[in-house]
Amino acid sequence: MLHAGGTIGILGGGQLGRMLALAAAQLGYRTHIYTPERDSVAAEVASEATIAPFTDPLALGRFAQSCDAVTFEFENVPATPLAFLAERLAPGLRALETAQDRVKEKRFAESLGGRTAPFAAVETPDDLARAVDRIGAPGILKTAREGYDGKGQWRLESARDADSIRLPHTTCVYEGLVQFTAEFSVILVRGHDGEVRFWDSTENRHVDGILAESIWPPSDAIAGQVADARGLTRRIADALQYVGVLTAEFFATAAGPVFNEMAPRVHNSGHWTIEGATTSQFENHIRAVAGLPPGDTATTAARLAMTNLIGADALSAHQQLSDPAAHLHLYGKREARPGRKMGHVTRVWHAT
Ligand code: AMP
Repeated sequence: MLHAGGTIGILGGGQLGRMLALAAAQLGYRTHIYTPERDSVAAEVASEATIAPFTDPLALGRFAQSCDAVTFEFENVPATPLAFLAERLAPGLRALETAQDRVKEKRFAESLGGRTAPFAAVETPDDLARAVDRIGAPGILKTAREGYDGKGQWRLESARDADSIRLPHTTCVYEGLVQFTAEFSVILVRGHDGEVRFWDSTENRHVDGILAESIWPPSDAIAGQVADARGLTRRIADALQYVGVLTAEFFATAAGPVFNEMAPRVHNSGHWTIEGATTSQFENHIRAVAGLPPGDTATTAARLAMTNLIGADALSAHQQLSDPAAHLHLYGKREARPGRKMGHVTRVWHAT
């Protein structure tokens, strides 16, 4: 168990790191953010920060020396340079490596009995032609690594689109388009002793590949599929001997839940847990990393909705507080660029 005053290192300097640092401070821990960004919104609220590339062995070594435990808030941190601190890293390197690669994570989910969209790894135009031939169109081509919030994705409406696409110089995955009725995520926390707790699953609505809203309770289409999706997510966590918060995203379809992807970290679709659950995803992640028992994950509201503030939405954000049910979180990002996650609002309604 990490002693009070101990330091938790966090790789990545975005809003997830910011909210983790705030939760760590509440539990009496110091945080050290490691990020290549100058304007890190996590560093702003942390005890210490290192600004250096993720591949700088000297800076990583000094960072590791100052930390009692290390976690990450961003899954695209290169895994190989972290091998020397594997013992103190939670979640572990295997979880990080699996979640970094869409092909690997889909194969892993399938090996544990999960259902995925039909998919094929694509490296050459010939691979793409074969994939479209076998899987059909419409479909989505995604870079296997480093894509997020709909970036690194191209939609193919018909087989003819495959001829005009200029493939990026990196492995991709071509996926058949899933006919889903709704999207949801399963978020769990797993401790060092293997104990697992789940938060309730919200219904997630995406616009242009970016999460727009998470709503609870979800529609009936989701409610009937959560148990199945939880089973898979637990098997993933157990197989990886996972420590911390793990998220898996699913499509609810007529044939049951279809696994889309996993994130080895706290997740945007779990931000509602700050005000809507007994213990938030951020606090429970810190507890798990620190070797403390997890807190109760029960939902405390009768109804809730989390809405992301994207780009210019943030400029009028404080007006949201005219609704007494609203809790505003602004991440402190200086520039409200289109498509950038600037903050979120959670509305919580209690039974009367
Ligand atoms: P991802 O980056 O894989 O999370 O994709 C972002 C969003 O794009 C998902 O939440 C879905 O709304 C949509 N999407 C991604 N892949 C598929 C698919 N194979 N079929 C249908 N919709 C998809």
